[in-house]
Amino acid sequence: MSKLLSAKNAKLMKEKINLFGESLKLVWKSAPGWTFTNIVMSVLRSVFPLLLIWLLKEVVDDVTRATTSLSQNINLVWPIAAVAVIWFLDEASSDFSGYVRKKQAMKLEIYMYGLLHFKAIRLDLINFERPEYFDCLTRASREAPWRPNSILNNLVSMLRGLLSLLLMAGLIFTLHWTLAVLLLVANIPGIWLRLHYADILYNFQKQQTPESRKSSYFNWLLTGDRPSRELRLFGLGNYFIDLFKKSFMKQKQEEIDIIKRRTFIELISNLFKASALLITLLFIAHLTISRKLTLGQMTMFLLAFRQGMIYIKDLFGSMAGLYEDSLFIDDTFEFLNLKENVTAAEPVIKTGSLKKKISVENLSFTYPGNNFSAINNVSFEIKKGEIIALVGPNGAGKSTLVRLLCRFYDPDSGNVKYDGQNIRNIDPEEYRKQFSVVFQDFMLYNLSAGENIRMGNIDEKNPEDKIRSSAKTTGVHDLIDHLPNGYETIIGNLFDDSRELSWGEWQKIALARALFRDAPVLILDEPSSALDADTEYDIFSRFREIVKGRTSILISHRFTNVSLADRIIVLDKGSIAETGTHDELMRRHGIYFTMFTKQSSRFNK
Ligand code: ATP
Repeated sequence: MSKLLSAKNAKLMKEKINLFGESLKLVWKSAPGWTFTNIVMSVLRSVFPLLLIWLLKEVVDDVTRATTSLSQNINLVWPIAAVAVIWFLDEASSDFSGYVRKKQAMKLEIYMYGLLHFKAIRLDLINFERPEYFDCLTRASREAPWRPNSILNNLVSMLRGLLSLLLMAGLIFTLHWTLAVLLLVANIPGIWLRLHYADILYNFQKQQTPESRKSSYFNWLLTGDRPSRELRLFGLGNYFIDLFKKSFMKQKQEEIDIIKRRTFIELISNLFKASALLITLLFIAHLTISRKLTLGQMTMFLLAFRQGMIYIKDLFGSMAGLYEDSLFIDDTFEFLNLKENVTAAEPVIKTGSLKKKISVENLSFTYPGNNFSAINNVSFEIKKGEIIALVGPNGAGKSTLVRLLCRFYDPDSGNVKYDGQNIRNIDPEEYRKQFSVVFQDFMLYNLSAGENIRMGNIDEKNPEDKIRSSAKTTGVHDLIDHLPNGYETIIGNLFDDSRELSWGEWQKIALARALFRDAPVLILDEPSSALDADTEYDIFSRFREIVKGRTSILISHRFTNVSLADRIIVLDKGSIAETGTHDELMRRHGIYFTMFTKQSSRFNK
């Protein structure tokens, strides 16, 4: 049993050492020069305090001699000047080290944010469906920017502490060995305390991450722009204040209780140290009174003991800090090491503009945590240049199908083939370049109006004319042209001198963005939900001209728009219920017929 435990501990230790190694590599990579300077400065700084104590002893002894003998030859200027110089060097190196540490920390922070963001933009979208992912992301973004540096600083300060302690302990040892031992023993309770509570606090914080995300969410509901209108209208302010308070207090109260217990035990551990100081003081005072020590030596030993206590505290403190780091850095690597599964499988195939068709074969998909399929054994084909409409009741699976077509998720079974090639064998980034999509929840970028359209293809070299023509097509050019700085005007309400737009105007911009991208496949998920009747009529009566022969998929609940499609696919509960042209489906008297007639009957009354 004990063998098993020690093997487990050894494995754990090895993992921690690996994590430290990885963290130090990150620190070094982020700023090699600054990291080196930081280490050198820290080691240098361990020598100054000892030198200072020794020089002070010289000064006190010289002063004592000068006051007790009548000798005129005692020169106090040099030792005092030396004290001042070393004091200055100690202070200056401390300030300079502070600057070096800050600079290095800044470089590391940028580097780590780079890694986090790089990872975040590549991660499989399925991760966004899992609360555990957000917990992991929250912990990683909280720890990653500074934790690796904390490992380095703790290691360096451990090294410095050890060096300084050895020097101080050696000095104290010359007085009496028991004092050197006392120095060490007096600090043991404090060290145990830090290690013990590092574990408790880590587990506590880990377990509290979902609660802390909850309170951040309530805070956003109370302070964010989007919820602000409903919050006022429905008078939800106090309700959410209450929910926030409850969630916040739930986390904090427990943390405060842990810290309260730790403070109490800390008090006892400080009593140990005070007793050690008392014994040492009495011993040194006794030796000085019985003239076994000079006043200078007394000062030196007192200062050395005090300084030794500080070094031990720092030394064990950094050891405990390292232990703490080893617990928390795990989260960062857990996030950085999350595996991406939506990648190009071997053999990787190059892709280009659609030549023949997209085939969907027996596709099925279930969201994590759901016990029903959002897409269930769906098969169909879209020929190049065809306009397909996807219709069906809410929750039928239309948007999910689009996500699978764009390969945001991989299906549980079945395939999507692009010109006969399984899309699993195509690099997802390359593959997605073949698509332009207006999502139901399209993005509003608080950037200039022109940039909002250019986001459709930021690699476009001379975008100006094309931006304007896309804006004209979706009927938003005049509006943008009349903004204070035309296409340069920042839109949205986040920044100074910006102009907010109406929801429908934003939607026209999102449409222009999709058209700006020269992708062979165009997908429009509810593209006209907020458009005025004129714009909608204008766009849909020229739909074929606007899509310029691109293969298009239109999702809409407005059947007048849907009827223009070459083929209509009706989805119901994740499966294809029927498919055909508008006329064919009307003749069938199925779901499409029912939905269409219900909608049009409101206008015919
Ligand atoms: P609507 O017409 O309302 O836009 P839809 O046909 O686009 O609906 P989907 O959004 O594809 O429907 O949803 C299909 C099913 O999958 C629904 O039952 C929905 O509850 C579920 N679903 C959608 N998104 C998620 C998600 N992120 N996590 C879990 N389930 C989801």
